[in-house]
Amino acid sequence: MREDEQRRSELAALPKLELHLHHEGAAPPAFIRQLAHEKRIDLHRIFDERGNYVYDDFVHFLSVYEAATEVLKSPEDFARLTTAVLEQSASHGVIYSETFLSPDFCGGSDVGAWREYLHAMQEAADKAERDWGITLRGVITCIRHFGPEKAKRAALCAAETAGDWIVGFGIAGDENMGKPKDFAWSFDMAREAGLKLTAHAGEWGGPQSVREALDDLRVARIGHGVRAIEDLELVDRLAEEGIVLEVCPGSNVQLGVYPDLRRHPIEMLRERGVKVTVSTDDPPFFHTTMSKEYEDLHRAFGWDEEIFGSIAAIALDAAFCDATTKENLRKKLETAA
Ligand SMILES: [Zn+2]
Repeated sequence: MREDEQRRSELAALPKLELHLHHEGAAPPAFIRQLAHEKRIDLHRIFDERGNYVYDDFVHFLSVYEAATEVLKSPEDFARLTTAVLEQSASHGVIYSETFLSPDFCGGSDVGAWREYLHAMQEAADKAERDWGITLRGVITCIRHFGPEKAKRAALCAAETAGDWIVGFGIAGDENMGKPKDFAWSFDMAREAGLKLTAHAGEWGGPQSVREALDDLRVARIGHGVRAIEDLELVDRLAEEGIVLEVCPGSNVQLGVYPDLRRHPIEMLRERGVKVTVSTDDPPFFHTTMSKEYEDLHRAFGWDEEIFGSIAAIALDAAFCDATTKENLRKKLETAA
């Protein structure tokens, strides 16, 4: 038992880089309940008796998620959210986080409003960096089930604010709605603005969805991508082209993509040469944290410090931030090793 605890604290202390985190989806339930209370919004239906988020399946999860985001209205709310999320991540050893930001939730994708939200979040992130040593960068995401027209507005916000802090563009939401090529215009615009690209695929969709994201959107990373394992030719292509998967094992198990972690393909993908990383997706919704992901991977596949070190190095390489930020993070990893 004591050995377990020792192992747990060692894994919690390892420096971690997280590339796949939805900003609103990382909101601690207590924070959302507090905001709802302040604004007199009744959200009791989305919490269980212990105050955790509750939902039945993926589509219901999306609606609970959107209900939780109802209380996040002003730039000030998003600044408070940023602080709450970063404090939580830093407490699990995260030194770098790329979070998905949706202009749809921040002033309805109006560029002027978006700048105000961004400014508020950046200020909160700067303070968190000073206080807790965690670096945040933003990846703007359009929401697939909101459709291609709204995606264009998100892409415009992304292009207008691309820089050292907004470093990427992506797509999230219901994979069963629409096709990647419907969003190609938005991805082209983001690419031309100098943003790096990622897309959710191969979570609910099969291998073909991963191929379409690669061919039609020309992304460097795939959010999830785990169902590529159903087509070994595709797996080999991912390995050869150095496509990085933002794997979120706890999320996949919680939403029933795989029955348990032992049957999750992360280890098979890694052994076949695919660059895998580890993230939490929407951690409080999936009852997980970065430390818990590490503990579970250690237990299921015997991953040790060396493997976690190589995972962190892959994430650092695949991060969308600039070279100076990467160099600082590299030093932090080296000091910890
Ligand atoms: Zn996701």
